[in-house]
Parts: sequence; C-alpha cells; structure tokens
Amino acid sequence: MSKRVFLSLGSNVGDRAANLREALARLSGAGVGVRRVSSFFRTEPVGFQAQTWFINCVLEGETEKMPLRLLNTLQRIEWQMGRRGGRRFGPRAIDLDILLYENAVVRLAKLTIPHPRLAERRFMLIPLRELAPHLRHPATQRTVTEMLSETHDTSQVIRLKEDSNPSEGT
Ligand code: ADP
Ligand code: MG
Repeated sequence: MSKRVFLSLGSNVGDRAANLREALARLSGAGVGVRRVSSFFRTEPVGFQAQTWFINCVLEGETEKMPLRLLNTLQRIEWQMGRRGGRRFGPRAIDLDILLYENAVVRLAKLTIPHPRLAERRFMLIPLRELAPHLRHPATQRTVTEMLSETHDTSQVIRLKEDSNPSEGT
C-alpha cells in the first residue's frame, strides 16, 4: 500500500530552482511518486541571516517506503547533490525534509514526523497550504491554514511568478 507524504525541498546554493527540479527528478527515480508540486518561493533564511535567500517548494508524493527508508533516500539524494555535511541551517544545494507521512506520528532520535518545526516555518507552511490547506497536523489537530495564522515566524516567503526564472528580485 502506498503512503501519502508531503516533503519540503529547499536550496540556497547555485541554480536554486534547477536544484529543486533535479531533486524532484531524483525522487521520482528513487521510489517517491511525485503527485503535485507547489509553486516555488523565494524565502528569507531563518537562523543565519547572512546568506542567500532560499528557494523552497513542497511536494505531495506517494511511496511504499517506510519512514526511515524514506529519510534514507532523502539523505542519499542530498549527498549525491553535493551536500557534504556543513553547518546546520547553513548554505546547501538541497535540503529535503519529511513534513507529513499519512497520519503518522514518529518520534525517533533521527526522525520526527510531523516535522518538528513545521508550525514555526512559513517557508514550509505557505507552500503546503497551496496543496492542502485543510490538512490537519496529526498531533495538534491544527489545519495548515490555522498553523499559518498562529505561527510566530515573520520571515518573508514570496511566490515566484515563473519557477523557471528564479533570479528576479533578491
Ligand atoms: P534542517 O532540515 O532542520 O535545516 P538538517 O537537514 O541538517 O536540518 O537535518 C538534521 C537532522 O534532522 C537530519 O540528520 C535528520 O536525522 C533529522 N530529522 C528529524 N526529523 C526529520 C524530518 N521529519 N525530515 C528530515 N530530517 C529529519
Ligand atoms: Mg533537513
């Protein structure tokens, strides 16, 4: 039985939109069926201000993989695309996070689902709202729209008109 998942993709190094597209293609080739993809958004970095803005999107996918296997696949793709450790929150060619996995609540040392910072990150919530505004967080029961209206995050998230033209603006 395939599972419905929502994944967050982000890049702030190199051709950021191309990196997102490459990650989408690699996911499709690695057992994650891509059903829908949000718009691409330019997003203000959270944590370290002195770095390039990210481009982020969220995908709705289907996979047969169990959660830890899925995390493994995401980390392999991050690695293949040149993310070699580096500082957390720092520059990265690609960051792949599991936001939601069906209605699962997972609390393991290396994997928390729903993503532990989902409700605090506009760059996750705004793309996710495009795809699933009424979806509920399985632990808090808040919808995506509710989480957005309640979040304390004030960082900017700006939708790109053309995901093929990421260089406009900042
Ligand atoms: P962040 O995504 O928070 O900016 P990293 O990508 O460096 O930071 O992730 C750090 C660790 O977070 C990963 O090594 C992974 O084991 C762990 N992690 C916990 N929950 C999740 C999740 N839902 N999706 C992706 N990684 C997760
Ligand atoms: Mg990550």
